[in-house]
Amino acid sequence: MTSNLNFKRHRRLRTSSSMRSIVRENHLRKEDLIYPFFVIEGEGIRNEVSSMPGVSQLSLDNIVDEMKEVHMLGIPSVIVFGVPDAKDEVGTGAYVNDGIVQQAIRLIKEEVPELLVIADTCLCEFTSHGHCGVIHDGDVDNDESLELLAKTAVSQVEAGADIIAPSNMMDGFVIAIRTALDEAGFTSIPIMSYAVKYSSAFYGPFREAADSTPQFGDRKSYQMDPANRLEAIREAESDIEEGADFLIVKPALSYLDIVRDIKDNFNAPVVAYNVSGEYAMVKAAAMNGWIDEKSLVMEKLTSMKRAGADLIITYFAKDVARWLSE
Ligand SMILES: [Zn+2]
Repeated sequence: MTSNLNFKRHRRLRTSSSMRSIVRENHLRKEDLIYPFFVIEGEGIRNEVSSMPGVSQLSLDNIVDEMKEVHMLGIPSVIVFGVPDAKDEVGTGAYVNDGIVQQAIRLIKEEVPELLVIADTCLCEFTSHGHCGVIHDGDVDNDESLELLAKTAVSQVEAGADIIAPSNMMDGFVIAIRTALDEAGFTSIPIMSYAVKYSSAFYGPFREAADSTPQFGDRKSYQMDPANRLEAIREAESDIEEGADFLIVKPALSYLDIVRDIKDNFNAPVVAYNVSGEYAMVKAAAMNGWIDEKSLVMEKLTSMKRAGADLIITYFAKDVARWLSE
């Protein structure tokens, strides 16, 4: 009846699982995953973050087993965030030699040397006011914050960090860090820049995990307006000029158009940060039985790959690595 109608039969390529697998365009791999974790001062601590079920702040003595597990699962890299005991106006804990992050990096490089350790380089977890730099006249002072950021990066690399990931959104942070690293002899350490970081409500649960909620105001004078697209290109462009080796887009899920823009406009590897709020929403819905967690997570991370991400920072990394091995 319909055989002489002229239309294209797209369903031919979907007839079986094998057929679908040979025409699949994008793939999620274990190598794409970067596992974020929180190291806290103290001993014997494993504090589950209430808004992020399955994610815990770990003390140093609990870090090694966690990192061995990550490595065993085939995840090649982790990104470390610190939760210090003491905070001050200028975030001293971020750049002291025995800071919590520096201690964690040393320990991991000693115990699980194959694991690539990415150091998040910022001050907000270490400042008493919770902002990402030094405060002058009620706002973050750009240039003064750069100096401390560069100092933080150098101390993290001295501790053994393989990649520096500056996240505070000060102008010039890539060149300031690149110059400081080069002067210290660390010319081969790459910079994974949080080039495009929006001022986002999706960061809520992270602030509980990293204890980094600003004590006054917000971060809108340095993080980007979610309404802007061209501004993302400008941000990434200057970071590339300043020497960034990777470009991060954060958050990921509501910003897949930006991930694609960055992929299309630059030749550097693109990293999507699947942030805490994106994780918490899935977990909450899954706990209520409203969604199929595994299918949804795989679909959403694959959509980040499809959008152009080469790498994905995700709290789901361990689950995904397990699912990929099934
Ligand atoms: Zn920060």
